Amino acid sequence: MRISFSYLMTILVITGCVGDVPRGPTPGRPAFEGLRARDLVEVQVAFGPRVPGTVGHDRQLRWMLARLDLLAPEVIADTFSYVTTYSDSLTLVNVLARYRPEAKRRLLLLAHWDTRPRSDRAQDPAERELPVPGANDGGSGTAVLLELARIMSDAPPPLGIDLLFVDGEDYGPEAVDMFIGARRYADRLPLPGSGRRPIYGILLDMVGDADPSFPVEGYSAQHALPVVQKVWRTAAGLGYSNFFPESVGLRLSDDHIPLIEAGLQTVNIIDFTYGGSDNIYWHTPEDVPSHVSASTLEIVGEVITELIYSGG
Ligand SMILES: [Zn+2]
Repeated sequence: MRISFSYLMTILVITGCVGDVPRGPTPGRPAFEGLRARDLVEVQVAFGPRVPGTVGHDRQLRWMLARLDLLAPEVIADTFSYVTTYSDSLTLVNVLARYRPEAKRRLLLLAHWDTRPRSDRAQDPAERELPVPGANDGGSGTAVLLELARIMSDAPPPLGIDLLFVDGEDYGPEAVDMFIGARRYADRLPLPGSGRRPIYGILLDMVGDADPSFPVEGYSAQHALPVVQKVWRTAAGLGYSNFFPESVGLRLSDDHIPLIEAGLQTVNIIDFTYGGSDNIYWHTPEDVPSHVSASTLEIVGEVITELIYSGG
């Protein structure tokens, strides 16, 4: 993702209706286990960087598809070509796993599964040409979605759920060659009323830092406030308001922007203080599994699980 420095504000947007905050998890719903998600981060990083055109990307794709074929009623692999502004020819694959594919009321949950080809933000210039391991940036959101896939294969959700694993989020180097898979999906978004279009979307990106902080991302607050209210109130209801402060943080260009532009309200759950307030591990070789926390993955996974099993 990229930062917009044009605008930074901190205001409270959600409080005022505290009375309707739900308390505690929906009875009987499955729990989300952070350790399982953490294991899935390790598996991904062991494939190597998931940069389009590399063996790690290919290994991860085959692993995800094999796993989802066992866990989801419908799996669609959308393979497409993309040529970057620097004339790199990429083969990219968006993977969509659909639960209750017939349901008209459905949510979209998405994360990018690719990783960045270069560590632009490394302190040491010699490291800047290294690919990012992508434990948190790519691995964490994908791990949460894959664990949700397992949970929903055991306990079918009360509404339709689309898990979208987008490719080419982090290719770059500039924004013109980023969010490629999300733009592809947004361009082909099912029509309203078609029974395939989600009612809203939630993006998970960098959701594994050991010191979790998920303020409301700025574009989400501006363009998807009802979804923000739903998600942040759900977090508060589970006792996570310390980790999901109801204040607006940075505006971050990310995979939710093409969806918003296509008329699908989508929020970005993102912790942009990876390794501390200076975000020191982001886009560096330090984005490794030892810097990803099972308990943080569990907090985020619990919020999404609660949203799903409370009916969206
Ligand atoms: Zn990134």
